[in-house]
Amino acid sequence: MSPRRVVVLGATGSIGQSARRVARSIPGRMEIVGLSAHANSAGLAEASREFPRARAWQSNGPDGADRLIELATLPEADLVLVSIVGTAGLAPALAAIEAGKDIAVASKEILVLAGEIVMSAARRKGVRVLPIDSEHNAIFQCLEGRDPAHVRRLILTCSGGPFRRTPAGELAAVTPEMALRHPTWSMGRKITIDSATLFNKALEMIEARWLFDVGMDRVEVIIHPQSIIHSIVEFVDGSQLAQLSRSDMGFPIQYAVTYPDRVAGSLQPLDLAALGRLEFEAPREDVFPALRLAREAGTIGGTLPAVLNAANEIAVEAFLAGRIPFPRIWETVGAVMQAHAVTAHPDLESLLAADAWARRHAADAITR
Ligand code: MG
Repeated sequence: MSPRRVVVLGATGSIGQSARRVARSIPGRMEIVGLSAHANSAGLAEASREFPRARAWQSNGPDGADRLIELATLPEADLVLVSIVGTAGLAPALAAIEAGKDIAVASKEILVLAGEIVMSAARRKGVRVLPIDSEHNAIFQCLEGRDPAHVRRLILTCSGGPFRRTPAGELAAVTPEMALRHPTWSMGRKITIDSATLFNKALEMIEARWLFDVGMDRVEVIIHPQSIIHSIVEFVDGSQLAQLSRSDMGFPIQYAVTYPDRVAGSLQPLDLAALGRLEFEAPREDVFPALRLAREAGTIGGTLPAVLNAANEIAVEAFLAGRIPFPRIWETVGAVMQAHAVTAHPDLESLLAADAWARRHAADAITR
């Protein structure tokens, strides 16, 4: 079996680093043929030393967007792993699909904003959209080849973040330092705040809706503080299948690369006896409105998910800069969604326009 030839867009972030680690551990199955980094030139140089035959581009220059498209459509590539933060991953993801390549999606924005466009393009071109988010990868593993008509519910697990037990009245006193202490995953700042507000799970609900083509009413969330079960599929007979592993992004990345095979690499299995127990509880949707806002955005669809995502990004930035208190994050998102006139079945241009509108509107709402 020849190795899958993979382009890693966003090679110096935490997902990119995990992808490089997986590639080093299964060289016979994964060959990195392209790498990009945005601003981290030292990190990109290091990645190039690891994979000297890969093409490597930095994407923060004036022609950065073109460079990303060039990498995403490299003739020698089979699979493009998109782990660029923000909307910058959208155009390369679509270009890769049009070039007939499978994509592995680690950037939430791709499916939250443009799930409808991306999935229909992938169907048209007969390529796979492989989820790298641990929850969606878990669902993908549990579903594997089964008839969607047999599925009753997708149940996304959620660590609950550091404030899952904090009384609602104390959330106004939460500082960025407190929110940045995530109990189980080590991640970037934006996603760590999103885990504390549950907006991370909110975005994942919308992602799941598109990836697996189910209605929002069949996407649910359960709090599971240990982050060992990565998600659950419930079938119409009431049986539930779950996927378990350590909290290591190497698992979803390796599975996406070797799918449908499983190969021995350097990933460490769980020791369940040492763990002892797994806990579950219902999310407090009244205290953390992110889940309700996601259900609304995912049900109405159109430009509304893009607006939720963009308003949240601006609000998180303002919170991290100490400009707004913690609860103002979801208050801002809710207010911007309320003010938005939704466009149904938007094209890419109207999605990006809605994204820009929501950013301006959120920034105004924060300044007022
Ligand atoms: Mg996740």
